[in-house]
Amino acid sequence: MRVIKKIKLKDKNITIIGMGETGQGAAILAKQLGANVLISDSNEIREKTFHQKAHKLGIKVETGGHTSKIYNSDLWILSPGVPNNLDIVKNASDKKISIISEVEFASWFTNKPIIGVTGSNGKTTTVNIINSILYASSLSPVLTGNMGYAFSRAILNDITKCDENRIYIVELSSFQLENINSFKPFISILLNITPDHQDRYETMEKYIEAKMNIAINHDMKSHLLYNSDDNILVENCKNLNAKKTGFGLKNNSENMLKIDGSHIQIGKTKLASIDSISLKGMHNLSNILAAVTAAKILNVSNECIAKVLPDLRGIEHRLEKVSVIEGVAYYNDSKATNIESVIAAIQSFAKPIILILGGEDKNTNFNSLTPFINNNIKKIVSYGKANNKISIALRDAVELKKVFSLRDAVDECKKSAVSGDVILLSPGCASFDQFRNYEHRGNEFKKIVKNVVYA
Ligand code: ADP
Repeated sequence: MRVIKKIKLKDKNITIIGMGETGQGAAILAKQLGANVLISDSNEIREKTFHQKAHKLGIKVETGGHTSKIYNSDLWILSPGVPNNLDIVKNASDKKISIISEVEFASWFTNKPIIGVTGSNGKTTTVNIINSILYASSLSPVLTGNMGYAFSRAILNDITKCDENRIYIVELSSFQLENINSFKPFISILLNITPDHQDRYETMEKYIEAKMNIAINHDMKSHLLYNSDDNILVENCKNLNAKKTGFGLKNNSENMLKIDGSHIQIGKTKLASIDSISLKGMHNLSNILAAVTAAKILNVSNECIAKVLPDLRGIEHRLEKVSVIEGVAYYNDSKATNIESVIAAIQSFAKPIILILGGEDKNTNFNSLTPFINNNIKKIVSYGKANNKISIALRDAVELKKVFSLRDAVDECKKSAVSGDVILLSPGCASFDQFRNYEHRGNEFKKIVKNVVYA
């Protein structure tokens, strides 16, 4: 890894590649700190608000392609959507321009503690649980990162006056962990690693490497929490230099919290009964254990944690109950864009499931669903670009029907559903073939389901 020194920004030329939320946040932060900022995006971006703001602040903007001005730069900040193997990135590297991620950049301007959360699944859920617990304590948490509020914006907000008890909870995708240099959370949480984004990473090893970047700067003063039920993580954390604590459902010896059958327990103290927690699913219990372990490291009281856990609510598009119509329950799990999250969804129900799979394939192995089908999958309805691939992988294991659109899929599910069944959209694919993003897909599903009521 090339060591990149933190630089004083005053009058330096900074190029930011990508004009999404993180690029915009980094641009405003860099400008406020005195840099000359150019933000450049290969896509034509017509949305006016940022253009106007940039103009007002004196940030230069180019969209619809990159000019050679991008190389007149002391530092590049890459947005997470921009892979390192793009020609422009290679060119910048050849020109010896320092390249960092937005998370690295923002972290240069704070010495408050950071909790970094990464993993293939459960990041948004877990950062929200941590936020709920810390919010109820004497700490002053801010939720930032991949969940949609750039770390740079949070840092800028605090730059002149920062709450003494501030703690940043940063959700980190593998993309955001590429180009990390000195970024060092006080607590890092590794939730799980399962195949995902195999369209961006050439090999699983490269994906694991990006996720493990969260830990590269740890030492014996900072904490690494890892899922001790996850063999890949156990193996990869084995030789790391950090204060390590496990969490998980299997009560491994390295875990701080244990499950005694009906309660979450710390030492001999019962923290909360599992039945009292409304956030369902064993995967969510695992997320809760990660969050509570972090809270305990931060000395949050048992009473405070016990008060918050029963009130935790799920997040939209994650196993979200939409409605029950004639005894059939409809669930929106549009955020399930990989197989592991589909498996977590299937395992959360004891009732018969009619499962909607489909969308844009991410080079996924749908066969890995087969062992879970016998449990309670009554039928699969597949739609979208991945239709044929899903059908070939699973048609021998279960009744499977191919349709074109999500609306057709709901109609097809309805035909086979009887009272007591669950109709579950847990697509196991990206949404971009027919929708703008997973939120758009989830919202459309909910609209279609609402029409079922009035049909
Ligand atoms: P992320 O931010 O990592 O994408 P989310 O909390 O948004 O994670 O959840 C994404 C999907 O993964 C949802 O379908 C959710 O039900 C599922 N999920 C949440 N936590 C886990 C977990 N620990 N293991 C497997 N799947 C999970």
